[in-house]
Amino acid sequence: MAACIPATVKQRFPELFQSFARLPDSRKPQGRQYGMKEIMTGGLSLFLFKSGSRNQLNNNRQSGHFEDHYRNLFGMKLPHQDTVSDVLRELDPAKLNQCRMDLMSGLFNQKCLRGYRLLDQYYTVAVDATGIVSYDSRHCEHCLTKKSKSGKVTYFHYVLEAKLVTKDGHALSLASEWIENNTGEFVKQDCERKAFVRLAAKLKKQYPRLPVCILADGLYPYENAFKICEDYGWKFIFVLQDKSLKTVREELTLTLRSKPVEEFFTVKKRLANHRRIQVSGRYSIP
Ligand SMILES: [Zn+2]
Repeated sequence: MAACIPATVKQRFPELFQSFARLPDSRKPQGRQYGMKEIMTGGLSLFLFKSGSRNQLNNNRQSGHFEDHYRNLFGMKLPHQDTVSDVLRELDPAKLNQCRMDLMSGLFNQKCLRGYRLLDQYYTVAVDATGIVSYDSRHCEHCLTKKSKSGKVTYFHYVLEAKLVTKDGHALSLASEWIENNTGEFVKQDCERKAFVRLAAKLKKQYPRLPVCILADGLYPYENAFKICEDYGWKFIFVLQDKSLKTVREELTLTLRSKPVEEFFTVKKRLANHRRIQVSGRYSIP
């Protein structure tokens, strides 16, 4: 029976299933019931069907006409999620990343994201960290740790993501970087700012000519983040919290006092290492 793969996938990601099929398979060829295309689509379906767990999807798989509908939709069989998990555990993340790059490059080539650019020029790329898992006991040697006031230690994993975001709510992942500790001894734990250095290098290497405007929260108005954006030729919009960059804020207040109720402003400031920064925006007093 012919598959009725959704039109958006056909139009925007025509190479999706071929790129899945090209991924290396760590299993021995004998006795394989499913190819990489089936395995990866099976993993993706966890998210497409908003399944709460692998077990839930396994149960759905056996109920009613689920399998028939799945086969009609994708033109392939749905593997057991334990098989999907076993294969994904052995898959080199770099290969999966290449798959993501190919899909995103396809979107850029189709020029369907151009209408979302800021000032018709810059792709807005939001950078932020998000928690993935946390445990009461050590899960692996790379876990970050946090000690509460009561002395209880929590072990957790964070990932820093760079996502191309659009005003109508699309969030398309461009690059990811784990925030995790190295093996052996270390003085300070890994953190979002350190991971940003690695993520930015990755993003620049993968998309060297992409005109980017980085969007980030109040953790980012600091010297190295400005330097990275400047070195890579990126624009940026960072949240300026009340306590950060005190001298810039003082200058802003003085500028605003001498201006009418609503005004565009630009403040230029030298930082300690003689680097210049420029803050621009619009301010209105209610
Ligand atoms: Zn861990």
